[in-house]
Order: sequence, then structure tokens, then C-alpha cells
Amino acid sequence: MPKLWLSLALGTAAGFADYLGGLLLVRRSPSARSLRYFVALGAGFMLAAAVLEMVPEGITLNPRWAPILILAGYCGVHLLEHTLVPHFHFGEETHHDEFLSAKTSYSVLLGLAAHTFFDGIAIGSGFVLSEWLGWVIFIAVFLHKLPEGFTVASVMLASGRGRRTAINSSIILGAMTLLGVLVINLSPSWVRVGLPLSAGVTIYVASTDLVPEVNREPGIHMALIFFAGVLIFVFLKLLAPSA
Ligand SMILES: [Zn+2]
Ligand SMILES: [Zn+2]
Repeated sequence: MPKLWLSLALGTAAGFADYLGGLLLVRRSPSARSLRYFVALGAGFMLAAAVLEMVPEGITLNPRWAPILILAGYCGVHLLEHTLVPHFHFGEETHHDEFLSAKTSYSVLLGLAAHTFFDGIAIGSGFVLSEWLGWVIFIAVFLHKLPEGFTVASVMLASGRGRRTAINSSIILGAMTLLGVLVINLSPSWVRVGLPLSAGVTIYVASTDLVPEVNREPGIHMALIFFAGVLIFVFLKLLAPSA
């Protein structure tokens, strides 16, 4: 399959996982409990993918600007998810309603929509460089997609929106992911900016959005799954063609 279609197909799969995550939430599915394993595994895998592949590749492509773009990606998500928004965290929204006005819930949606756009930019950038990099970034993104769709739907319900709005919000996140893949495919030269920016976004999502959720679980079980995510990435890297 040509790389363009492959990256669009995987972008669609990642977007669909956002929708599935939203569906798990509004259906009150008992299997939603298992999402925490995706959070822990995804956090480890994403962090390793960002530090071992996206950062060095980004610096090779754009030695002058990549470091500042990585930092900008990290700070950008912090601004959108945690500065303009008074209350946001991954996982189910179980806190008091007073935190969650309608305005807050739409700010969360906006912040997550920007972050998911860069999930798509990351997948698209990976495929511009190599099929292997595209696949591993896709896995990194995919692993946190179910919890991501679940989170946005949960925030919507907690702020008093209906189930329809909750599902639509998870669909918006999926669509933004696909849009990110599309944008990089339309202008592949933007990979020089897109890859380091999305590396910063990925580091943020892994270390600042997901790891605190891993740490909330008592015991070392979840931490071990986090390390398994790191090791699975390292193992894949050892298998990488001529890397
Ligand atoms: Zn909360
Ligand atoms: Zn994401």
C-alpha cells in the first residue's frame, strides 16, 4: 500500500478509537475498567517513542529549530489543557460538578482537539520519514486513543451535556487526528516543524497527562505496565530495519 493511503488508514483507525472510547463511556461499559492498562502501557510506549525516535529524528531534520519546537509543543499543550482550562485530567470525571461549567467542558474539548491534531501530525510525519517510524508512532498514538475519547465524553457528561454531545466530542477528536495526518500529507515538507512540535506534544501527553493517572493506582502493578510499555518500544527499535 502506498504510504499516503497507509497513513490515512491508520489515522482513521486512531480516530475511530477516540469514538470507541466515547462509546465505552456513554454506554457505561464494564470493560472501561481495562482502559487504565492502556493508559499505563501507552504512557511508557509514548515516552520511549518520543525520546528515542521523535526527538532525535526531529533534531536531525531541523537542528536549529527542533529543540525550541519540542519545548513549544510541550508548553502549547500545557497552555491549552491546563492553563486556559481550570480543571482537566485524563480518566473519568468524578470530581465535584462546580468545577465543570459548560464553558469548561468546551475548553477541554478545544484543548484536546489541538492535542489530537498533533497526534495526527505525528503519525503523518512518521510516515513521511519511513514506514517503520510511521507504524511505531501510530501504535504510540493508538494506545492512548481509547482513554482520550473516554475522557472527553466523561467531561461532557459531567458538565451536564447529553450523551449525543459526549459522543460527538469524541468524534471531533477522531476527525482532528485524521485532519493532522492529511495536513502533513498535503505538505510533507512541514515535517521539519511538525515532527519536533508533535514530539513535545507526545512527551507532554505521556508524562504529564498519563503518568499521573498511572500513579493514582495503589501498588506497583500499574508502574510495571508503564515500564512494559517502555520495554516494548525498545524491543521494537531493536527489530527496526537498519536503524
Ligand atoms: Zn476531575
Ligand atoms: Zn492524543
